[in-house]
Amino acid sequence: MGNHPNPKKKDQSDPPSTTTQEEQNEALRFRKRLMEDEKIKATVPAKNDHQLPPLPFDFKDKPPSCTRFVVLSDTHSKADQIKKVPLGDVLIHCGDFSDRGEPGEVEAFEAFLKKLPHKHKIVIAGNHELSFFEGRFDSVGQYLTTEKVENPERIKQDFINHKCCTYLEHSGITMNGIKIYGIPWINNQDKDHLESMYSKIPQDTNILISHCPPYGFGDLLEDKHIGHVGLLKYVNTVKPKYHLFGHVHEAYGVFTNGSTIFVNAATCTRDLQPEHTPIVFDVPNG
Ligand SMILES: [Zn+2]
Repeated sequence: MGNHPNPKKKDQSDPPSTTTQEEQNEALRFRKRLMEDEKIKATVPAKNDHQLPPLPFDFKDKPPSCTRFVVLSDTHSKADQIKKVPLGDVLIHCGDFSDRGEPGEVEAFEAFLKKLPHKHKIVIAGNHELSFFEGRFDSVGQYLTTEKVENPERIKQDFINHKCCTYLEHSGITMNGIKIYGIPWINNQDKDHLESMYSKIPQDTNILISHCPPYGFGDLLEDKHIGHVGLLKYVNTVKPKYHLFGHVHEAYGVFTNGSTIFVNAATCTRDLQPEHTPIVFDVPNG
C-alpha cells in the first residue's frame, strides 16, 4: 500500500523525546495498577511492538508551566456512565459522542460537558453525529429514529451557538501557546478530497485531533490496519507532538513512531461499554 513506512518496524526502545524516565516509570506503575483491576484488564489492548504503556494518569501534581489534557472519544451517548473523568485544564472529545446526532442526544452531551470542571473543552464530530454533515441525517438518520427530525442541520448550529465547548471543524485554536487542530469525520471519502482536507493541517500543529486513526497506529480491526494512509502521510510531515483520535474502539491505546505519540482514546469498548480509561497527558506551555 504505497511507500509509507511500516510502523511495525519501529523500535519500542526508542521513547519519544517528550517522555522522561520518571514519566515512563510512573506509566509502568500505572500499567501495573491497571493489570490488577480485572475489569479494566480485559480492555487493555494486546501489546505490539510500537505500543507504549498507558500515559501517566491522575498525577496529584501537574508539572509547572504545563497544560493538562484529558481525552475522551466514542462515548456514544454513554458519557455520563464513565466511572471517573480525571481533572485537567483541557478536555478533548474526538467524536462519536452520540449514536445518531439526534437533538436529545446532542443536548444530553451538552449537559455532560457543562457539568465538567475543565476550563476548556474541545470537541470534533465523528461519523455517528449524522446531523453534523450535510445531507447525512436525511439519507441515513431518518430511518433510525422513531421521530421525524426536521432541519437536522440546525442541530449542529444549536450545539455551536450554545458555546458549551470549542467545536473544531478543519480549524484550530491555540491554548497556552499550544497549537491544536481538529479534523472531524470526513463525509466525502474520495481519496483526492481526503487529501485536500489533510493538506490544510498547519505545519506548526502541536496537537492534532481527528476522528479516524492514521494508518498503522491505533487502527487495528481484526488484525487489519484500517487507518487512513493519507492522514499518516501528513502526520509524518507535520510531526505533531500528539495525534488524538478514536473510531476503532478495540484499538484503544497509546502508540508512537518516535516523533509523534498516537492516542486512540475510544472510551467505549467494541460492545459499546464506556470502560476504557480517559487518557491524560501534560504538555509544556508554548
Ligand atoms: Zn465509535
